[in-house]
Amino acid sequence: MYNPDEERYNKMLYKRCGNSGLKLPMVSLGLWHNFGDTGNYENMENMCFTAFDNGITHFDLANNYGPAPGSAEINFGKILKENFSAYRDELIISTKAGYTMWPGPYGDWGSRKYLIASLDQSLQRMKLDYVDIFYHHRMDPETPLEETMGALAQIVHSGKALYVGLSNYDGPTLEKATTILSDLRVPFIINQNRYSIFDRTIEKNGLNQKATELKKGIICFSPLAQGMLTDKYLEGIPEDSRIRTDGRFLKETTVNEKLDKVVALNKLAKKRGQTLAEMALAWVLKDDNITSVLIGASKPSQILENIKALENTSFTEEELIQIDNISL
Ligand code: NDP
Repeated sequence: MYNPDEERYNKMLYKRCGNSGLKLPMVSLGLWHNFGDTGNYENMENMCFTAFDNGITHFDLANNYGPAPGSAEINFGKILKENFSAYRDELIISTKAGYTMWPGPYGDWGSRKYLIASLDQSLQRMKLDYVDIFYHHRMDPETPLEETMGALAQIVHSGKALYVGLSNYDGPTLEKATTILSDLRVPFIINQNRYSIFDRTIEKNGLNQKATELKKGIICFSPLAQGMLTDKYLEGIPEDSRIRTDGRFLKETTVNEKLDKVVALNKLAKKRGQTLAEMALAWVLKDDNITSVLIGASKPSQILENIKALENTSFTEEELIQIDNISL
C-alpha cells in the first residue's frame, strides 16, 4: 500500500494561479508520454509516487494521451483508484479536448457536442466524478468562440470541472475568450502553452503579455523541449530516449540541428552549478507571471532532478543575454 511522504509539502513551492484562489506546484507532471499502453505500469506508478512524495500535486492529462488515445487516462485512473483514493482532495487533475479523438465530425476541435461528450468519456476512463481543470486544447478557427466558451461554462456549472483553462490560444483570442467567460461567470484561471529557452512563441503572439494583464495563470509545457534541453543528447541518441521510444514528435534531425546550442547551454548551466535540465526549468520559472512548469518524465529520477530547479530560479542580466545569444 502506498503511503505518501509526510514531508511532501515542505519539498515544493506553490504559486497562485493568476488572481484565482488556486495554488499550483511550481513543477507539475504531464502524462502525454510514457503513460499509454506502450509504457510500463510499474514505472508509471513509481513516477506518480515520486511526484506526489515531493509535493507535485498537479497531474495533467488530455483525452488523446496514449498511445492508444485515451490509454493514459485509463492507466492514470487505475493508479488513482489503487493508490490515491484517500488523497483526491490533495490532487489537481486536469484534462483537455480539442484534438482528434474519435472519427467523424464530432470528435475534434471545439463544438459543444465534442467538448461535453469528451469530458464525459475522460471522467469514465479516469473513474472520476470531476476534474479540477478542463481545457479547450487548441483554438478552433471555425466554431464560434461563444459556442466553445458556452460549453466550458456548462461543464463547470454541471460540476464536472472546477476551473477551466485554454491551451495553445494566442493573446487576441485569449482576450475575447476572457470577456465571454467572465460574462458567463466561469472560473477561467489558466493558459497552457509551450514555452522554453528554444520556443519563445508566447512572447511573440501576445499570450504572455495578455495573460499577465488579465491576471490569468500560465503553465508552460515542453519546458525541456521534449528532452533536448537536458544533457541526454550530448553524446548521441540513447536507446531509452523519446526519439527512440516514440519518434512521433521529436526527431533526430531536430536534435542534431540544435546540438551546438545544447552544448553551449550545458556549459553555462555548469557554471551556474545546475544541470542543463535544472537551468532550462529555472529559466522558464524566473518570471513572476509563470505559474508552473509542466514537465514530462520517463523515469522517477528525472522528476527528482527537475525539482531541483527550484533551488535557483534567478539569473543575472549577463546570463540571460548569454542564453539569448546562444539560443535565438
Ligand atoms: P518536457 O519538455 O519536460 O520533456 C519531457 C521529456 O524530457 C521526458 O519525457 C524525458 O524524455 C526527458 N527528460 C525529462 N527530464 C529529464 C532529465 N532530467 N534528464 C534527461 N531527460 C529528461 O515536456 P513534454 O514535452 O513531455 O511535455 C510535458 C507535458 O506538457 C505533457 O506531458 C503534457 O501534459 C503537456 N503538453 C501539453 C500540450 C498542449 O498542447 N497543451 C502539448 C505537449 C505537452 P525521455 O523519454 O527522452 O527520457
